Amino acid sequence: MKEIIRLKPVFKERIWGGQKLKSYFGYHIPDKNIGECWAISAHKNGACDILNDHYKDENLLSLYEKHKNELFANDPSPVFPLLVKILDANQQLSVQIHPDDAYALEHEKDLGKTECWYVIDAKDQANIIYGHTAKTKEEFLNKVKNNDLSLWSYQNIKPHDFIYVPATTIHAINEGTFIYEVQESSDTTYRLYDYDRRDDQGNPRDLHLDKALDIINFPANKVIQETKEEKNDAFEMYHYVTNQYFNVNRYVIKSKATINFDTYALVSVLNGQGTILGQTIKKGEHFILPSTFKQQDIDIVGHLEIMVTLRVY
Ligand code: ZN
Repeated sequence: MKEIIRLKPVFKERIWGGQKLKSYFGYHIPDKNIGECWAISAHKNGACDILNDHYKDENLLSLYEKHKNELFANDPSPVFPLLVKILDANQQLSVQIHPDDAYALEHEKDLGKTECWYVIDAKDQANIIYGHTAKTKEEFLNKVKNNDLSLWSYQNIKPHDFIYVPATTIHAINEGTFIYEVQESSDTTYRLYDYDRRDDQGNPRDLHLDKALDIINFPANKVIQETKEEKNDAFEMYHYVTNQYFNVNRYVIKSKATINFDTYALVSVLNGQGTILGQTIKKGEHFILPSTFKQQDIDIVGHLEIMVTLRVY
């Protein structure tokens, strides 16, 4: 395979969504509250179709199953392990927590979910919920039951911020936030608090306090994340995080940048256009650099801003 693997995003309607995926990236989406773009997904609830003629009729789920050795560096994960989304939060999301792999495997037969966010855009004074203030389980339960919002730790965010959300960290994205998200490909979420919102049928969404309390740390654990920067005339590179699943970077390319990886890479173009391996790429496109290209210097030329997430295992 000499081509990059181009993906067709899947869009999801959400009560908290909006129309920013259209206004920012120009995606053709229904005139509804669209909250999520599943940009690089092999999840059964929304796998991206492959756009290359060579693999037409495949989606990322089937491609991974059939060509794991050749394209995905013989990844030991039985399912495609990562999920890249773009989220448009027009209202606050529920406060939630995800288990780690061990808890998820035992209780849900699923992966856990470590995730992270790069803020593409945010309104003035936008914030997130990131952690909690309770010292004990009793204090936590009392405040949840009394709708006491002082339970949550709020953090202001602005464009270009990066937030690392390891499994078992309480979190919520609040309104006016447009983010790029990388996560383990898991659907296990324990909802802690939903502002008493009702669904179409007038029912509150389920809460999962019991399981959440199994995994919340008292007091909240402190997350450490440090961005490393490299800047020169040709490009700026920001390395945000490396863990046992992924290695997340952002490049602002003014003329050329060169990347090199050991497995395979998930790339999203946030702004501008250019070429990679002689193929044109532009804002709003998402693709995979398969392991056919591993351990080679790959030039990215042009004027563009991209997220490059490398698979780690
Ligand atoms: Zn989450």
